[in-house]
Amino acid sequence: MNSIDIFENSIKAYKITEKYHGNYVGLERALFLGWYCELENPCKFCYMSTQKDKIKEPLKARRKLETILAEASIMKRIGWKLEFISGGYGYKIEELNDMIEMIAHIQGCKQYLNLGIIDFEKLNLNNVEGIVGAVETVNPELHQKVCPGKPLENTKEMLLKAKDYDLKTGITIILGMGETEDDIEKLLQMIEELDLNRITFYSLNPQKDTIFEHKTSTTTLNYMNWVSQVRLNYPKLKIISGTWVDKLPNIGPLVMAGSNIITKFPLFSIYGTKYGKTVENEINSTGRELLGSFSDVDVLNSKKELLNSPYVKNIPNESYRINKNLEISEKNLAVLKDMDVNIANKIDSYVKKTTKNAMKYL
Ligand code: SF4
Repeated sequence: MNSIDIFENSIKAYKITEKYHGNYVGLERALFLGWYCELENPCKFCYMSTQKDKIKEPLKARRKLETILAEASIMKRIGWKLEFISGGYGYKIEELNDMIEMIAHIQGCKQYLNLGIIDFEKLNLNNVEGIVGAVETVNPELHQKVCPGKPLENTKEMLLKAKDYDLKTGITIILGMGETEDDIEKLLQMIEELDLNRITFYSLNPQKDTIFEHKTSTTTLNYMNWVSQVRLNYPKLKIISGTWVDKLPNIGPLVMAGSNIITKFPLFSIYGTKYGKTVENEINSTGRELLGSFSDVDVLNSKKELLNSPYVKNIPNESYRINKNLEISEKNLAVLKDMDVNIANKIDSYVKKTTKNAMKYL
């Protein structure tokens, strides 16, 4: 598609997004449980694949529970929803059930999961809003090459099964690994086939020691082309678009192309800095109302309540809604009570470090 058509599609996509989702753009971030994935044949683009052989004790590559819960709490404070709970393959179902329950309780809302192939029979679904399948690319040959350990058919089967359990579903797609424009049609067919509620796009962030290390990223226009075509074909779909610190100027164009949410930031190192403010400026420049903050140090320090937060506004539109219908066991409530001081200390440490960094930019 030529560049003029991409811009024209984006203008239509921007207007359609407003019609079906209102005038908001939110910020989200995946919550990682750890840095080890036990998938035998790991994905060729993934940072964790470069760490696998270096990690001799996988359990030590997991984050401490208080650290995970502290991050979940701060995200709520600054008005960011969790994009999903993620962390590679290898967690026992009992561990996941407990962690999901506690994260949902701290956040006050149900969560999406991106944790490989889910065993629906064993997973406690009471605090789960939806399941994300890490599709990564819809091009079958490319998929076989870059994700040899997670066949597409298994992911699709899981997503279809999730619907039987009344769960919402989504997929992740990475652009820049070698897909072509013809693959957009395959993506549109997959959204239809799986009846998806949301999609997350990422622009490949080439990782050191992977086959993509020296590759360039996808262009902003190509990214807009994928997002706008999905938006025009699926007006109600929630579209989450990932960026990175070296690509922040693509945020405005991605919002214009139909994105509801912007994701994939190193939150604590850039909150309140010129990078965090650039994210806000990019979103504000499109005329959309930003949900959440990426710069307000008083909000981060709980000195003031954030009003433009999805947790406060409770926007009825599905793309920004908070689903509060939760359950937590007595056992996990007691665990949280025991960890109260540790979580508070961890929050304090994150906030202090982030504030100190942000003060340099005042
Ligand atoms: S399954 Fe996920 S965490 Fe594991 S190697 Fe692939 S992308 Fe990385």
